Amino acid sequence: MTYEIKPWRAGTLAENLASAGVSRRDFVKFCAGLAAIFAVGTPELAHASAARTAGEELADKLGAITKPNVVWLQLQECTGCMESTLRSGGTTVEEVVLNLLSVNYNELVMAASGEAAEKALDDTNAKEHILVVNGSIPLKDGGIYCTIGGKTTEQILRESAENATMILAVGACAVFGSVQAAKPNPTGAVGVDEIIKDKPVINVSGCPPIGEVITASLAYILTHGKAPELDSEGRPLFAYGQRIHDSCPRRPHFDAGQYVRSFDDAGAREGWCLYDVGCKGPSTFSPCPIFQWNLKAGWPIGAGHPCIGCTERDFFDRFTPFYEKLPQVPGFGIEITAEKVGLGLTGLVAAGVAAHAGVTAARAAADRKATRNSPMAAFGDTAAEPTDAAPTEETTEQNSEDK
Ligand code: SF4
Ligand code: SF4
Repeated sequence: MTYEIKPWRAGTLAENLASAGVSRRDFVKFCAGLAAIFAVGTPELAHASAARTAGEELADKLGAITKPNVVWLQLQECTGCMESTLRSGGTTVEEVVLNLLSVNYNELVMAASGEAAEKALDDTNAKEHILVVNGSIPLKDGGIYCTIGGKTTEQILRESAENATMILAVGACAVFGSVQAAKPNPTGAVGVDEIIKDKPVINVSGCPPIGEVITASLAYILTHGKAPELDSEGRPLFAYGQRIHDSCPRRPHFDAGQYVRSFDDAGAREGWCLYDVGCKGPSTFSPCPIFQWNLKAGWPIGAGHPCIGCTERDFFDRFTPFYEKLPQVPGFGIEITAEKVGLGLTGLVAAGVAAHAGVTAARAAADRKATRNSPMAAFGDTAAEPTDAAPTEETTEQNSEDK
C-alpha cells in the first residue's frame, strides 16, 4: 500500500493520517508493531488479541496528538540516518507518521531553504519543542569544520537545545562521534551528550539506527510524556536491551562450533556463524535480528556479513580490524570466550550493575529535572500527563540483572 506524503494541515495526527489515505485499520496495525517494540520480551503481547488491544490503545494516544514542534538537526554526518528512516521501501505508515512529526525544521527534507529555513528554525527554537539530532559536533579549531548559515554546529545545537523538552541523539555520529571521532579525530568530533549536560539525551544508536527504532523512540515520548527507560549508554532499553548474539539465527551454528573461515567457503554458503571472520554480535546490544531493515528485507548478518558493532560506543577504535575475531580469553572454550568478551566489553552486567545503578540514578535525577518542562508542552498539550511512573533505580537495576 502506498500513501500520499502531505505536510501537517490541521487537527490531530489521526486526521492528518486519514487525509494521507491511511486507514484506522492500518494505523492500528502500525501501532501494534510499536507496542510490540516497547514490550520486547513481554510474553503477554505475543498473543495476537493482546497485541491488537495494545495497538488500539497506542493508536488512540498517538492519533490524538496535535501539531508537534520538532527540530531535526543534521550536523556533521552523511544523511544515512535519515535515508534509513525514509527510504525503507514503499511509502509506509511509518514514513507518513515520521514526516508528519518532523515538519518544522529538517535540512534534508524541508522545502524551504536559505533565510526561510533559518526563520523556521528560529521560530521553532523559540517555542518548547522536541529536538532530534543526526551527526557529530566538531569542536577543534573553533568548530570551523562544519558550519551552517555561518554558525558552528555547537552554536546551533546549544540554541536548539535551550527550549527543548526532550533531546534524541539519532545515529552513532550524534551519540558518540562515530567515524569522525575515530583516532586521530581530526575535527575533534563529539556526540550530543558531550555538549548538552543539563538535560537527558536519549541515544538512539547505530550507523544508521533501524528506522522502526527511531520512530518508536519518538512515539514513546509522545505517548508516555517522558523518556523510555535507558541503559548506561543512554539507549532505550526496549530496543537495546539484548545482544545480537542472543537472537541471531546463526547462533545454533555458533553453539555447534560451525564457523565460516573465509567468505567464499562452504560454511559461508551454508549460513554458518561469522564469529571467526570478525562478527561483533557477542558484544553488541541491538535489535537488528528482530526488526532488520527496509521492510524486513534483510540485515548484515543475514546477508553474510559480520556485525561490526555499530551501536556500541567508539566501535571504530575498539572493534577494528573488523574482519578479525574478538580477542580470545585464555583458558576458556569458544562459547565461554564469546560470552565473557560480550560481558567484558559492554560492561553492563556483573561488576557493571553497581555502576549502572549509579548512572541510572543520575539519569533519573536529570529526568526529574526535565519533566518540569513536560515534552507534551511541545504539542500545546499541557494537560497530558505521563501515563506511568518514572523509571526507578530499582527497576533499572533489576533490568540489568535480568540481562
Ligand atoms: S550514524 Fe552512520 S548513517 Fe548516521 S549519519 Fe553517521 S555515518 Fe551516516
Ligand atoms: S557470532 Fe555473530 S554470526 Fe555468530 S551467532 Fe553470534 S551474532 Fe550470529
